[in-house]
Amino acid sequence: MIAIIGAGISGLTLAYRLQKQGTPYILLESSSMPGGYLQTDIKKNRILEKAANSILADQLVLDFIAELGLTQEIVEANAISKKRYVYKNGKYRALPSGPMSLLFGSFFSLSQRLNIFKEYFNTQPYRTDITLYDLINERFGQEAADYALDPFVSGVYAGNPKELLADLCFPVLGKNISNYGSILKGFIKNPPQRRTSLTFQGGLKTFIQTLADQVTNKRYDCKVESLQARDGKWNLVVNHEHTKEIIFCDQVVFALPAYEAATVIRSHSEEWAQRFEAIEYPMVRNMHLIYKKEQFGFEPKGFGALHPRVEPLFTAGVIWNSSTFDNRTPADEILLTCMATEKRTPEVATISDEQAEEAILKEIKRLYRIKGEPVYTQSGSWKKGIPQYTDKMATILNHCEQLEKMNVYICSNWPYGISITDCIHRAHDLATKFKI
Ligand SMILES: Cc1cc2nc3c(=O)[nH]c(=O)nc-3n(C[C@H](O)[C@H](O)[C@H](O)COP(=O)(O)OP(=O)(O)OC[C@H]3O[C@@H](n4cnc5c(N)ncnc54)[C@H](O)[C@@H]3O)c2cc1C
Repeated sequence: MIAIIGAGISGLTLAYRLQKQGTPYILLESSSMPGGYLQTDIKKNRILEKAANSILADQLVLDFIAELGLTQEIVEANAISKKRYVYKNGKYRALPSGPMSLLFGSFFSLSQRLNIFKEYFNTQPYRTDITLYDLINERFGQEAADYALDPFVSGVYAGNPKELLADLCFPVLGKNISNYGSILKGFIKNPPQRRTSLTFQGGLKTFIQTLADQVTNKRYDCKVESLQARDGKWNLVVNHEHTKEIIFCDQVVFALPAYEAATVIRSHSEEWAQRFEAIEYPMVRNMHLIYKKEQFGFEPKGFGALHPRVEPLFTAGVIWNSSTFDNRTPADEILLTCMATEKRTPEVATISDEQAEEAILKEIKRLYRIKGEPVYTQSGSWKKGIPQYTDKMATILNHCEQLEKMNVYICSNWPYGISITDCIHRAHDLATKFKI
């Protein structure tokens, strides 16, 4: 039997797949409900996501949604959400949406546009240990690194591109260089697969709840505390409603955060506990702000706006939820989700919740020329937000085979990719490995 620890999207998807193929499993979740980072609050016809907002779905994910019977529930992003904004030199500017606007538009300076064009002829070899910032700076120039890469990385990883490894975050960049000599040439020859940005009628909770309902062998309020090896198998020590129990299994799957995996594995291997513990999870704060449309100086139309760290702002960006997806809030309201991250603004982790809320409210009011107070606000924080894909993550990836020889597997948003789509892919791949 396979014990899956953690019922976030990764653990649930793996459990579902194993069940479908007839592989015995048990899914153990420490909290009283499934979902992990996927949690939705519904307050007076307002749909508020506590962490993840949407899924950038490829065909495998769309097929999975269809298999769960949820196709009718999908809410696709509106066409306007293709527009994305970046704060540059004191105002919001639309990001170039294609090669023509990139080369001939005014978002980048002329010298930066020439640098982008020149990358096509770059012959520099690729180094697998290069950071994202260095890669983009060296090949495209500093303006592209500061105003395109940096805000994008803040938005996805809540991280610093000077620390994140290009090879782990966007392996396609290295592949393009290895195959074609140039990132740009690679994208022209091999355009990325089309993906659909989506959520569900009742938010991401609809997805999680439907998936969880179909997974039969699961236990909530069941925290795995440690594990012990026994004759090539595993004994898991679990705490179920304050009572200790032992669960026997052949294989263990970590579908929980790396710092939690460190606690569980410590009783068996201090070395692995230290590797897991070394993964950094910087803090992320978010705040939902709802206003009446007439309170705005202008109506935000698009996916949202990102705030590069070279600009003197507190927040990392704002998702314009009510513009991206229909029916997130009543029609006369605007819903914004504001993000502030420790990696962009270090004081995010040291100030109080009240100070953070005040800083966010003040900044958003100024940026969007808002009159009056919000009609509704809701704040949240993830003290340990998103795992960082640095050299520490590379160490884990390089040693995963060793872990798997012990019948321990990782199926989570580390080290195989952070997005919900990445998590679903990893779970599908791992289930295939367990096929009898
Ligand atoms: C603020 C924020 C915004 C995001 N936005 C997006 C987005 O818009 N789109 C996107 O694709 N991705 C987004 N992400 C990333 C994405 O949500 C996550 O990477 C993904 O949901 C992780 O799922 P998971 O199942 O791997 O882990 P988790 O969701 O962390 O699930 C792990 C589960 O393990 C349980 N657990 C922990 N310890 C134990 C234990 N000892 N025993 C048993 N159970 C345990 C936890 O309770 C939890 O339920 C965002 C992340 C954050 C933080």
